[in-house]
Amino acid sequence: MMYRPAKAYLCLSALKNNLKSVQAMAPDSKVLAVIKANGYGHGIERVAHQLSGADAFGVASIDEAMLLRQKGFLHRILLLEGLFSEAEIPVVIQNRLDLVVHSQHQLNWLLNSKISSQISVWVKVDTGMHRLGFEPKELPSVISRLQNSANEFCIHIMSHFSSADEKSASAELFTQQQIDTFEDCTAAFTFNRSLANSAGIMRYPLSHYEWVRPGITLYGAGDIPGFENHGEAVMQLESEIISIKNIPAGESVGYANTWTAQRPSTIGVIAIGYGDGYPRHAPSGTPVLINGQRVPLVGRVSMDMITVDLTDLAVQPQIGDCAVLWGKELSVDEIARFSGTIGYELLCGITKRVPMIEVQ
Ligand SMILES: *Cc1c(COP(=O)(O)O)cnc(C)c1O
Repeated sequence: MMYRPAKAYLCLSALKNNLKSVQAMAPDSKVLAVIKANGYGHGIERVAHQLSGADAFGVASIDEAMLLRQKGFLHRILLLEGLFSEAEIPVVIQNRLDLVVHSQHQLNWLLNSKISSQISVWVKVDTGMHRLGFEPKELPSVISRLQNSANEFCIHIMSHFSSADEKSASAELFTQQQIDTFEDCTAAFTFNRSLANSAGIMRYPLSHYEWVRPGITLYGAGDIPGFENHGEAVMQLESEIISIKNIPAGESVGYANTWTAQRPSTIGVIAIGYGDGYPRHAPSGTPVLINGQRVPLVGRVSMDMITVDLTDLAVQPQIGDCAVLWGKELSVDEIARFSGTIGYELLCGITKRVPMIEVQ
């Protein structure tokens, strides 16, 4: 079963070190480590274990939260989108989960239920992203309804950046406006506040408040302008060369013959494809590391294989030589850019058939 050479090596010390870097960057804040989507594709239990020094975890579903409880994690766990239905309330109480509250319908569920124990709620305010959250002007009435309820709530206030990782004057102005809006609408309260994601932690120290919420930087990924070398890559996706052949100029490679050799060429086949989570849209020219050297992908990505041009390598590789698709020497964000996506999507998209192997 492990004979197929496509494997994802996960560097556990990198997770720990990346958390320490966040703690050093935001020394006065608590850290809510975001481990939704199965720990950004790295395995939620494994990630939680390495990040157990965090003050809380953030997940997207009650199933992820319950899994963490079943594995014995006693940390605070925040459901980042809160309740999807009123029926979840008993499970939230039983598992002592924290809840985001972003809308009137969620607020009504909480106020209309009889809840015997205190619940920590993170009231989400929409500071400009216009995805989830109350309008800033609604905040005082939301807070007073929570405070006046027969149920007991421990209140926090949060918001989310839309563009903290973008380096343009307009994105930076917009982010600053989000901080100002957040500051204005929360200044009258003494509750703990949270605004910063990974990019916010690095680029906008004024957004740290009492809780920071890093995600992508914990995995050593994310394009954050000015912080290109933040974090150590946790995942290294590798496979091996399974075939090498020489083709004459004018011959094409792969499905639909999209790439044609301009010279006599040496083509290597690597056992990785979109069935493993390598992006099918990766165009010819996307880099792959063979024995530490960059070579270009050529032709279409198949389900189980890709083809690369080995012609320019000074030392010709052998069958079984290692190919690195992304990792410490080739960032997942660079591969993502070639395919018009972001490192987040590639990390989350590694499929079940790729064994994950823990390394120190
Ligand atoms: C996913 C998420 C984060 C983490 O964002 P990164 O860009 O990965 O650091 C923080 N807060 C919320 C509400 C999120 O959904």
